[in-house]
Amino acid sequence: MTEELELKIVERFPGICANYKGDMSSTCFAFGFQCDDGWYDLIYNTIRKLDFFSQISGVGITIEQVKEKFGELRIYYNPLDMSLLAEDKSKFAWGIVNDIIDNATTTSKNTCEVCGKKGTLCAKGSWCKTLCYNTVRNTEEYKEFIPVSEWLKALWTTLDKAKENQYKN
Ligand SMILES: [Zn+2]
Repeated sequence: MTEELELKIVERFPGICANYKGDMSSTCFAFGFQCDDGWYDLIYNTIRKLDFFSQISGVGITIEQVKEKFGELRIYYNPLDMSLLAEDKSKFAWGIVNDIIDNATTTSKNTCEVCGKKGTLCAKGSWCKTLCYNTVRNTEEYKEFIPVSEWLKALWTTLDKAKENQYKN
């Protein structure tokens, strides 16, 4: 993600993002947000929820890694106080933290990583990325990606043909 966008998140939520650009021997967040700009809103809103929940519940966490993997958004965290993990009463709280993160991963599967509009899982060989039709057709870097879903592959081909005919007429 571009540094300008990363800093908008980090400066708004400094506590939960304390390890951003930290020592790479102790945190993967040393590498910043390892995905494209299209997921900015999704990540901002997810960290806002985590930060809010952290404040009202007293369950402190730090983000340790934010990255794209197999075309999905993955967010990893550490509890500030490890002893809380073992406590029965806080298990429910950890469940909520995990739900917030799982929800972000699920949303990312339908969100173009480049532009943020509705996307679908695409592949170029073994390289997976969630993209939309317009991004694939208009970005040199991603032009060889095709949807994994057969019916979307067919739909994109239909869209291509409709466009060709439009120019012919
Ligand atoms: Zn897109």
